[in-house]
Amino acid sequence: MNKAAFNPWHMACQQLDNVAQRINLDPNVLCKLRHCKRALIVSIPIRMDDGNVQVFEGYRVQHNLERGPAKGGIRYHPAVTLDEVKALAMWMTWKCAVVGLPYGGAKGGVVCDPRHMSLSEIERMTRRFTSEISLIIGPEKDIPAPDVNTNAQVMSWMMDTYSMNVGFSAPGVVTGKPIEIGGSEGRLAATGRGLMIVVREALKHLHMNPRDCTVAIQGFGNVGSAAAECLHELGCRVVGVTDVSGGVFNSKGLDIPALLEHVRQSPHRLIRGFPGGDHVEDPKQANITLLEMDVDILAPCALEHQITSQNADRIHAKILAEGANGPTSPEADEILHRKGIFILPDILTNAGGVTVSYFEWVQDLQAHFWQLEDINQELERIMTRGFRDVLEIAEREQCPMRMAAYILAVSRVATAVKLRGIYP
Ligand code: NAD
Repeated sequence: MNKAAFNPWHMACQQLDNVAQRINLDPNVLCKLRHCKRALIVSIPIRMDDGNVQVFEGYRVQHNLERGPAKGGIRYHPAVTLDEVKALAMWMTWKCAVVGLPYGGAKGGVVCDPRHMSLSEIERMTRRFTSEISLIIGPEKDIPAPDVNTNAQVMSWMMDTYSMNVGFSAPGVVTGKPIEIGGSEGRLAATGRGLMIVVREALKHLHMNPRDCTVAIQGFGNVGSAAAECLHELGCRVVGVTDVSGGVFNSKGLDIPALLEHVRQSPHRLIRGFPGGDHVEDPKQANITLLEMDVDILAPCALEHQITSQNADRIHAKILAEGANGPTSPEADEILHRKGIFILPDILTNAGGVTVSYFEWVQDLQAHFWQLEDINQELERIMTRGFRDVLEIAEREQCPMRMAAYILAVSRVATAVKLRGIYP
């Protein structure tokens, strides 16, 4: 898939340029939005379990703060780069704007391979990283959350470290925390649930019945597993799933509750060894099989740059529901559009996570906590409104859903930039 040439920041800027041209965006606003407001690069020296010191590199990038404090996840992965974090921060700006949350976009990452680190090494790295970036994060400034290879435990260490540094408990500094320390009901499943809501609305629009639909999902982590569960509950048949350990396929439909239980019991939370389907053990081959399946709904929920000009022609799904950030290259986007595939773009489709993160932050600031029903009802309202707003633009402007989502998001951010003006 020509990984060497892929630069997510260039892709993000190209997407912005495309929409800027389409809406005749003021060039002065465009040149501001093509830059990140702040990027902090930190080195993180850690004493490893064997007594040696290893230095990791970490980043926190804030793309835009025009509509409110910055919001975005923290990624631990060997392939993290500053340009990837910048792209993810820009996409967060658009995502928050599409669903109308009062946030700007940010992202963070550490170049590391947590699969080869002990829990205590991960804890020390998290705490030092948090201390280093506490110059720019805070409940009123920039609020991190989980992303690839980070979870509620990592958020607990971040919250604790920040709180120790400021001298009081500051639960509002991160979201995606355990409920016991100020987390929110419904946050864990929020991104997957949001994806299901957007898919369900798309199915209604396309006059398709969920009970007749098959689904393939790439990635079975926070987003992919919750998406599988929610789509299964909606009545869809999930016929293929992949993760770093390979893929499992069953044309009659995978037993999703059993697969979820299998993954929960597995030491590294992998689908490998699940008895309810045919396995493809080579992850690369498994992904090729999965992405090219003749299914109704394809949901990439792993990493960016999975559907490119190299394989877009061989995508057969009717609906592409982007749980991951940036899974489709702009060239692939055009090919899929020509093929008539209905694309539910990442900045809308995976916005459920940041939406419930917003609810968590509001609850922390007010020290008043909501019931799960209230959370899910509000999530439902925001995601369906987001889908309808984007669909209305797509129909009015005769453009694909991604362009429509970008028109909505960039116009909202541009209005904020104009209202606030350029300082000084
Ligand atoms: P995660 O670490 O919980 O899960 C990632 C999953 O992808 C794992 O199952 C992993 O095995 C799998 N994976 C990794 N590389 C793969 C490959 N090459 N082929 C197939 N599977 C692979 O991460 P997550 O939080 O679920 O995030 C997944 C994607 O969703 C990322 O793009 C992230 O930015 C995006 N996202 C996450 C959230 C959130 O709330 N966590 C919100 C919005 C968007």
